[in-house]
Amino acid sequence: MTFYSPENPLFLDHMSTTPVASEVQQVMFECLKRPHSAQVSKRLIAKAQKQVASLIGAKADEIIFTSGATEANNLAIFGTCPADNPRKTILTTQLEHSSVLEPVRRLVKQGYNVEFLSLTPDGLVDLTALSDRLGQNDVGLVSVQGANNELPIRQPIEQIAALVKQQDCMFHVDASQSIIGQQLDVSQFPADMVSISSQKIYGPQGVGALFIRRGANLHPLMHGGSQQYGIRPGTLPLFLILGFAEASLLALENKRADKEHLEILSRVFMETLSSKTDRFEVHQFPSNSGNPALLSLRLNNIPAEEVLDQTPELIISTGAACESEQGHPSHVLKAMGYSSAAVSETLRVGMGRYVTRQDVIFAANIIGNLVK
Ligand code: PMP
Repeated sequence: MTFYSPENPLFLDHMSTTPVASEVQQVMFECLKRPHSAQVSKRLIAKAQKQVASLIGAKADEIIFTSGATEANNLAIFGTCPADNPRKTILTTQLEHSSVLEPVRRLVKQGYNVEFLSLTPDGLVDLTALSDRLGQNDVGLVSVQGANNELPIRQPIEQIAALVKQQDCMFHVDASQSIIGQQLDVSQFPADMVSISSQKIYGPQGVGALFIRRGANLHPLMHGGSQQYGIRPGTLPLFLILGFAEASLLALENKRADKEHLEILSRVFMETLSSKTDRFEVHQFPSNSGNPALLSLRLNNIPAEEVLDQTPELIISTGAACESEQGHPSHVLKAMGYSSAAVSETLRVGMGRYVTRQDVIFAANIIGNLVK
């Protein structure tokens, strides 16, 4: 068993990023050993496109590499909302990541109207309200995340897609958190665009992709060479892309095993914590299939920041890394109606592929001891 200490902490924050798989490290290292000719690079990138595409049931030429899901989300949103679009309404949810919320806010300044879809008490998009709203024929884009990064909320994207595609309207899914241990297959539902991020699937940081369905029309955000059909020009970071492709193959291969493992870890963590104390609450949504990797919990009357300070041998978090950096209370928890006490006491524990049962028992015991 690994000995964890403040110098060698146990990583349980897999919603923010994941360790790079050793197979992925190997592929990147081999790639970095020597430069490759333009011809070889092109061939390797075409193969990587195919491998990443296979993870989500897409075709190779539907994958555009980006610097991560932030860029993919920006490309999807700005790329389909030009100034001359007659359909000037964007529908999204208040649970989205800031890399969706900030672009749509900016489009308001360019004459777009942004509306947040009603959610059920379990955080799911209200399909009847969505269908009614789409009927007004002014919606140009609907953007809804696959799974949330702070709460175990998974949206019914297949059903949303079916409604949206009855209209002349684009549908974008931020699937950054919906790949590991979850099913996402664009051959089974009509999304136009899907954002994914390598760093959430045991690949390197700084690379991701936007799936753009054949025939969907997007305006580039940057202009330059003819790489990636001119939609996202610029020399591609070959070693990152090959690492991302290897991570995609591993994610596909391990889909079922990842899911089972994450579910077991979450269950063992909860059983261990419950055996120590009952002074905690778990944020759960009964009619929601959730996220097998994510536990959101609250230790009653102990601010989450204090828990983090007192557990230096663990890496857990108080919420989305991008938000906690700015010290803002979570917009996701607020949108779901949690009190400010609940928001300040909420911890996020993110399970991962290389975490063991012993690891989560260790973590649950440490956390449980704080409230005993
Ligand atoms: N969307 C969601 C739901 C996320 O969790 C994240 C990462 N925290 C992003 C988008 C942004 O991804 P990246 O860091 O790859 O830009």
